Amino acid sequence: MAVAADRVELRSGFWRDRYDANARWGVPRLYERFEAHGVVDNFRRLSGARSAPRRGLWFTDSDLYKWMEAAAWVGAAELGEVVPIVLAAQADDGYLNTNFDADSRFADLDWSHELYCMGHFIQAAIARKRAQGHDDLLDGAVRCADLLGRVFGPGRRVARDRHPVVEMALVELYRETGTARYLDLAAFFCDQLPWQNWDRLWGHAVCALYFASGLTDVAIETGDETRVEAVRRWWADLETTSTYVTGAIGGRWTAEAVGEPYELPLSRSYTETCGAVAAAQWHARMLQLDGDIRAADALEQVLHNALLAGMSLEGDEWFYANPHATTCRAEEHPWIGEQLPTQIAGPLPLRRAPWRDVTCCPPNVNRTLATLPGQLYGTDRDGNLWMHMFASSHVRAAEFDVSVDTDMPWSGRVAITVHAAPRREASLFVRGPVWSTDTVAGRYREERRVWRPGDVLELDLEIGTRLLAANPRVESTRGSVAVSRGPFVYCFEGIDNPEVDDLRDLTLRDDTTFETAPDQPKLGGITALQCAATIAAPTRLYHPVSSRNGTFRPTTATAIPYYAWANRGPSPMAIWLNRA
Ligand SMILES: [Zn+2]
Repeated sequence: MAVAADRVELRSGFWRDRYDANARWGVPRLYERFEAHGVVDNFRRLSGARSAPRRGLWFTDSDLYKWMEAAAWVGAAELGEVVPIVLAAQADDGYLNTNFDADSRFADLDWSHELYCMGHFIQAAIARKRAQGHDDLLDGAVRCADLLGRVFGPGRRVARDRHPVVEMALVELYRETGTARYLDLAAFFCDQLPWQNWDRLWGHAVCALYFASGLTDVAIETGDETRVEAVRRWWADLETTSTYVTGAIGGRWTAEAVGEPYELPLSRSYTETCGAVAAAQWHARMLQLDGDIRAADALEQVLHNALLAGMSLEGDEWFYANPHATTCRAEEHPWIGEQLPTQIAGPLPLRRAPWRDVTCCPPNVNRTLATLPGQLYGTDRDGNLWMHMFASSHVRAAEFDVSVDTDMPWSGRVAITVHAAPRREASLFVRGPVWSTDTVAGRYREERRVWRPGDVLELDLEIGTRLLAANPRVESTRGSVAVSRGPFVYCFEGIDNPEVDDLRDLTLRDDTTFETAPDQPKLGGITALQCAATIAAPTRLYHPVSSRNGTFRPTTATAIPYYAWANRGPSPMAIWLNRA
């Protein structure tokens, strides 16, 4: 079982900094932009408080709800203002959407995103209840879910929203209220797709991963073996064929999709920030389902790399698509003009933007970071405490009261101090991360004893810098290596490597050793890495392998964690370098 976010306090260090950037700047500034773009006025308009026409895309309600979920957890002052505005827009029968009225509701579920929006409303309401103890939104959410139950289901209307989310929301509402028909309705919506026949997940990445998360929630609650086996099968496939080294998922621009197995393009990776959020949600659920350490490794990987890359270090600018390499050259299409769909032509995003009319990603990161403390720990039915990720924090769960002090993820020292514990033998299970060279790598280390207040458990996990190679079936990374240190994947930015004209020329030997470079205050005190490399500047497109191509000269290359890239202006960037 996960330990709820309100039982964990982040105290200092890496995750506290990211949490604070989100709470202090990300959440309030996004709210200002919602006001400026009419997202909140859409609700005021419906209740008659303002007469402006509706603005924005038809699913902007969901963006505000995701923001509300984050706002509840970080205690943003604006939430108290928003809750009555939203509730005043809800129809008497529970329907809530600012874009559709009584005549047009539920008419086009393939595109309307109505259940998707209501799902996010339900999730916001549950967060408001759990984080702040208020029932106001939850009452609205129950009316909303009851309406869905009257309209949809066996013997009623058999249909589903093409964009999943309501499934997860209904399972959570079942957990919150104990009302079993919400779980049944979630299962019903899942079963409108022929998922039993699927070997793997593909297509629109966010939809696929939200769907899988919803089905996993149903599997956790029902124990239904068919569902359990399906999500295990898809998860194993995704991990072995379709996940970036950053944990990102959904690299195909066309249809924002999970492509064929091993289809992982770099400079044209779509890998939407919401895809990283969705992956984190699913990994957390798979961890809950099976307690499998690989799910915890995957969760840590996506949170430290793909997810954080979506947000600026300051916390208030956003990538939607996340390139995994760029030469940073503007593209021009003299014969086609601007009509070419962005899925084909780009533009490749080189800097994070404060606003985009499709506003799904920013509040999705807001709520993920706001609930991050809830990802760190777990409990089991025997009353043991599990540590899945490392952050300086304080946790109260399963009769344990424990504080953790650590410099993770920059160094591997961890001190776990027990302040209170069960009066019987109980275990602390501490994850041995897969990237550690320690003997516990890839399993949970169990420390079992009768704990006494003041007991300290000290660990020193080996954080080595490693060169990674990819499965050669991935054509974009064939003959290449990537650098990782601890949970971070590193990248090389042009701004740190001015001697290199084209980062694609950088070449590393397998025996490359790395020095840690001084802290870079501009990047929030990261640990940079430096190493000897070769600039292999080719002159020909093809050449006999028996001959040399171009010039070779030594250099010192500098790398920073991928999540911190593009915070000093647009710059070329490469994760994968040539392997000598
Ligand atoms: Zn998004």
